[in-house]
Amino acid sequence: MSPFKTVRGMRDLLAEEAETLNFVISKAREIAQFYGYKEVVTPVVEPYELLSAKSGEEIRSRMFIFKDLGDRDVALRPEFTASIARLATTALKTEPRPLRVFSVGSVYRYDEPQRGRYREFWQSNFELMGSDKPEADAEAIVLTNSLMKAAGLRNYAFKIGNIGVIRGILSQENVEDKVQNAILQLMDKKEYNKALELVKQKNCRKTLEGLLELKDDMPFETAEKIKNYVTGYDKAEVAADNLLEILKLVTACGCPVETVEPAFARGLEYYTGIIFEVTVPELDIALGGGGRYDRLIEVFGGESTPAVGVAHGLDRVALAMQMQKTTLSTRRAKTAVVIPVKPELKAEALKISQILREAGISAEFEVMGRKIGKALEDADRRKADYAVIVGERELKNAAVVLRDLAKREQSTVKIAQLIEKIMG
Ligand code: AMP
Repeated sequence: MSPFKTVRGMRDLLAEEAETLNFVISKAREIAQFYGYKEVVTPVVEPYELLSAKSGEEIRSRMFIFKDLGDRDVALRPEFTASIARLATTALKTEPRPLRVFSVGSVYRYDEPQRGRYREFWQSNFELMGSDKPEADAEAIVLTNSLMKAAGLRNYAFKIGNIGVIRGILSQENVEDKVQNAILQLMDKKEYNKALELVKQKNCRKTLEGLLELKDDMPFETAEKIKNYVTGYDKAEVAADNLLEILKLVTACGCPVETVEPAFARGLEYYTGIIFEVTVPELDIALGGGGRYDRLIEVFGGESTPAVGVAHGLDRVALAMQMQKTTLSTRRAKTAVVIPVKPELKAEALKISQILREAGISAEFEVMGRKIGKALEDADRRKADYAVIVGERELKNAAVVLRDLAKREQSTVKIAQLIEKIMG
C-alpha cells in the first residue's frame, strides 16, 4: 500500500470526472466567446495584500497563506476578482469600456471538505466593467443561464437580491461600514436575530424585521413589496427599483428566477448592488453566484468604475450533471488502436497512426510489443471502435486490415480510404 494520499480537501480527478470537468470548462469558454469576454490567465499565487484587500473576513480567514523564499507574504488565489481588478487598474487601464474579461482555473479556500465543497476547486469567472446599467447586471445572470443550459442541467433556479436595499437603510441610519458588513455577514448565515441585535438602538429595526419576513414565493410580488417597505430610505428605494428592473430583464430572457430575497448577502463584502446565486434541487449549495461591486476598482487604486461579475463553481456544475445523469453532448472522436503485425513494420504503422490523428481520429499505438490476439483483447477492454492491423501482405497493396471491434468484422482497406471508412 502506498503511504501517499492527497492533502485533505484536494482531489485526484480520474478519467470520467476529468472529462466532465473539461467539458464544463469548454462550455464556459464557448460562452465567453459568445458574449464577447476576452480570456486572461492570471497567477495562482498573488500577494497576500492584493487578495485580502477587499475580499471580506470570511474568505480572508480561509486563504492558504505562506511566505515565499524571498520572504514575501503570498497566498493562493481564493477567487479571481482581485486579480482582475488589479489588471483593470494596470495593463487593461486604457482599454475601452465596457471591459469584458473571462478567466477559468483552480482557486483555493480552506473550507470544511464535504460533498461539493473542496479546498481546491475550479471556477469560471466573468467580469463586466464600466457599466452601471441594469442590462449589465442582467448579462451576468443571463450568461449564467446559458452555462447551466449548455451543461445540460434541468430545474436550476436563480435567487436574487440587492445588497443596496439593506445597505441603503443602514447608511441612512448612520451605521458605519464595518458594522454594516458584520450585519450582512450574519444575515448571509441566516443568523437574523444576531444581525438585528446590532441595530437594536436604531429606528430602522422594524423595517429590517419586516424585510426579513418577506418570504413570498412570487418573485415580482416580493420585489414590489420590498419597494413599498423601504419608502423614505432614498438609496434603498433606488436599489429596490433596480432589483425590479433587472428581474424584468432576466425573466424576459427566460432565466428561471425562483426567489427574490431582500436579506440575501453572500460571502463577499465588496458587493454594492445586485447579488444572485443559482442552484439545482439536488444540491443545497450554489453552483454559481455573483453581483455588482462598484467600489472595488477604486480600492485597487483605479478610477471609480462600476462593475458586475459572476463566478461559477465548475466542480459543482459537474457534480450536478452527474446527479442529474446528464450525458455529455460532445462528439467523441472515433478511436482506433494501431497494431503492427511484426516489429519491422513499426515505422509504417506509426506513419498510419499519424495520418489518423491528423484526420481527427484518436489512434493508440501498440507500444507493448504484443501479438495481435493479446493486443485485440486489450483494444476490446479499452472500448476502441476499430483496430488497424498493419501486415506485410496488405502493405504491399498500400492497404491494412480494418477491424470493427463492436461488430467483430474485418476487411482489407486501402490506406487512402482508411479515414473515410472509419469516419463512416
Ligand atoms: P464565490 O466566489 O464565493 O462567489 O463562489 C462562487 C462559486 O464557487 C460558488 O457558487 C460555488 O459554486 C463555488 N464554490 C465556492 N466555494 C467552493 C468550495 N469550497 N468548493 C467547491 N466550489 C466552491
